[in-house]
Amino acid sequence: MDELASADLSRAVAFHGHLCPGLAIGVRVARIALRELGGPAADEELVAIAECDNCSVDAVQALTGCTFGKGNLLFRDYGKTAYTFIRRADGRGLRIASVPRPRPEGDAEYAELRAKLEAGMATAEERAQLEELNRKRVLYILQLPEEQLFRVQEVQLPVPAPAAIRRSLVCSECGEPVMETRARLLGGQPYCIPCFEKCESRW
Ligand SMILES: [Zn+2]
Ligand SMILES: [Zn+2]
Repeated sequence: MDELASADLSRAVAFHGHLCPGLAIGVRVARIALRELGGPAADEELVAIAECDNCSVDAVQALTGCTFGKGNLLFRDYGKTAYTFIRRADGRGLRIASVPRPRPEGDAEYAELRAKLEAGMATAEERAQLEELNRKRVLYILQLPEEQLFRVQEVQLPVPAPAAIRRSLVCSECGEPVMETRARLLGGQPYCIPCFEKCESRW
């Protein structure tokens, strides 16, 4: 089977814009979450807490239905490729955390070529080489046994409250609507956060 042609990976790439090892990690995370907890979430039946904002999050959003816009993807800025999924129906929680994994073949070469590319010094041939190594790394991640990629643990967490729809107030300075819970008051008038920060010194 051609792992690179799998339907879920294609959907993730369509959402993310490119194929990369980080995205492949997210696909593996999503596969575990969907297998263990069901989904994808049409509404908020599944909630995800992401501890990173790297490429993997886009695969998780595209495949599990836990998205920033629906409010069932919460972000904790810990810089760890780790996700906790909670199923609202029964409160079952699963934390899927990346573990140090064996380095794939050609790792040093890949790092060197990437550095060249980022410095704008890569030749067409080196670009093609990097593309090929990138595909190999993606394939490597797709084929690595789950236990070499992640630590998966059952967790007990309070089920996060559903995303609430808030009223808006109109900012006294810029005239733009601002969610009531984010509005600031100055002299009894509502302000959005950037205007509040600008105007505060005038008071
Ligand atoms: Zn990426
Ligand atoms: Zn404003």
